[in-house]
Amino acid sequence: MGTTLKQLLSTHPGEAPAIGAPGKTWLSYGGLRALSDQIRSQLRAAGVGRTDRVAIVLPNGPDMATAFVTIAQSATTAPLNPSYREDEYAFYLEDLKAKAIVLAAGEEGPAFAAAQRLGIMVLRLQSDAEIAGQFSLSTEGGTEVADEAPGEDDVALILHTSGTTSRPKIVPLLQSNVAASAQHIAHSLTLSPADRCMNVMPLFHIHGLLAAVSASLASGGSIFCTAGFNAMNFFAMMTEARPTWYTAVPTMHQAILTRAGRNADVIRDVPLRFLRSSSASLPAQVMEQLRETFGAPVIEAYGMTEAAHQMCCNPLEQQKPGSVGVEAGPMVRIAHETDNALVDGTGEVVISGPNVTPGYESNPDANQKNFFEADGHRWFRTGDQGAFDADGFLHLTGRLKEIINRGGEKVSPLEVDGVLMDHPAIQQVVTFALPHPKLGEEVAAAVVLRDGHEATERDIRNFALERLADFKAPRKVVIMDEIPKGATGKMQRIGLAEKLGLAEP
Ligand code: ATP
Ligand code: MG
Repeated sequence: MGTTLKQLLSTHPGEAPAIGAPGKTWLSYGGLRALSDQIRSQLRAAGVGRTDRVAIVLPNGPDMATAFVTIAQSATTAPLNPSYREDEYAFYLEDLKAKAIVLAAGEEGPAFAAAQRLGIMVLRLQSDAEIAGQFSLSTEGGTEVADEAPGEDDVALILHTSGTTSRPKIVPLLQSNVAASAQHIAHSLTLSPADRCMNVMPLFHIHGLLAAVSASLASGGSIFCTAGFNAMNFFAMMTEARPTWYTAVPTMHQAILTRAGRNADVIRDVPLRFLRSSSASLPAQVMEQLRETFGAPVIEAYGMTEAAHQMCCNPLEQQKPGSVGVEAGPMVRIAHETDNALVDGTGEVVISGPNVTPGYESNPDANQKNFFEADGHRWFRTGDQGAFDADGFLHLTGRLKEIINRGGEKVSPLEVDGVLMDHPAIQQVVTFALPHPKLGEEVAAAVVLRDGHEATERDIRNFALERLADFKAPRKVVIMDEIPKGATGKMQRIGLAEKLGLAEP
């Protein structure tokens, strides 16, 4: 198949549909290849060369998808969250050493202000009115540069990690990393040209860029690009898009479930081949409800930015609720948490393979800590704790940084989440560490109740005490309307105590 994005796209029939969007006609593979060539000449004319970095700040949708796919075939892309403020853009643009930034024509908000402030070239994207994802770039002001083609070791994509556990880290992903990961995902989902993904994921995060967009393109399938996740129009979009699958984070799946009852006709009318969930743990109860509701397998996968997304995936033939699946791309092993050695049993999940970043940028300490050599391979530490079962399915027990240490007794917040999700009144739960003067940390949980259900803090605590050892049952249960989430839709355990005013920052 190939080791650059360009090669990935090169063989699909020209007339096959590639990118779609609400109310627009489809951009074909032939159209996408022509667009890629045109954007390459426009970038070179503007002075953007093979290794220059181009930040992309666009609303979610087809142009964001094609801006990534086309620009990444000519230079390095750095998609940024469109909801940042000016100072955040200034920080990221400098941190990334961006040469240019792509903004929609007429966009004069905070990203534009930051680019002006830093003297970064602004490339204006003019969208086509009819064809999904078709656009042109303005090229005024640049000095033409040589037209070299990126090779497999050039950086195609730079992203920051989600910042769930600490300050986001800069992850460069090579052409070969992106191409390998796209092919791994396509293979594990048996994607074919007949498949159509409906994208609801943000396209400034690895999950949407790789699992929805790049994996579909690797297999010659099509992607219908919505403006982003919105539970209120999800089913209307399904009617228009007629997808065979979608991928989302667990909080999105849960929001979809709350609206599924009144959309049974759409679910019947647009049968899905499977649903995919990744980026955070999918409670077994939610997986079962999704499976029953959609009558299709629910594939939980395990991904991270540093792996260009996927590491493990449940096979289509057999899913194990509560497991993130089997090795699905890189080699996945368990290592000792402090010694640089592979072990059996529980420990830190480590990976090695063609999809793994060569290392964080400008962060020698993190590289020193996270990479090591053993058994003839270079391993990357994921920061996640887990163990394989006898069938080769990986079970994550938590993030090393999130494990709650209650006076020396280690509590896996994922285990407590799983138990509380069995409570009939609970819709969402995040177990977290509450600072404690004597124990260091104490177990607490934030919960959202199902519509029309009631439960008190005491009921929930008693429910936990009947099912968990005393030290694991949350001392404090906070019932709330909504649990705060990060930009990519993940519920954040770290810092939750401070956010809820339960601890000094
Ligand atoms: P940071 O590294 O900045 O703290 P982050 O790790 O959340 O942020 P991402 O790269 O977006 O940034 O997320 C990768 C992490 O998400 C994994 O290391 C793992 O902890 C978690 N994750 C991904 N998929 C799953 C899953 N299916 N089940 C449980 N956790 C998952
Ligand atoms: Mg991480």
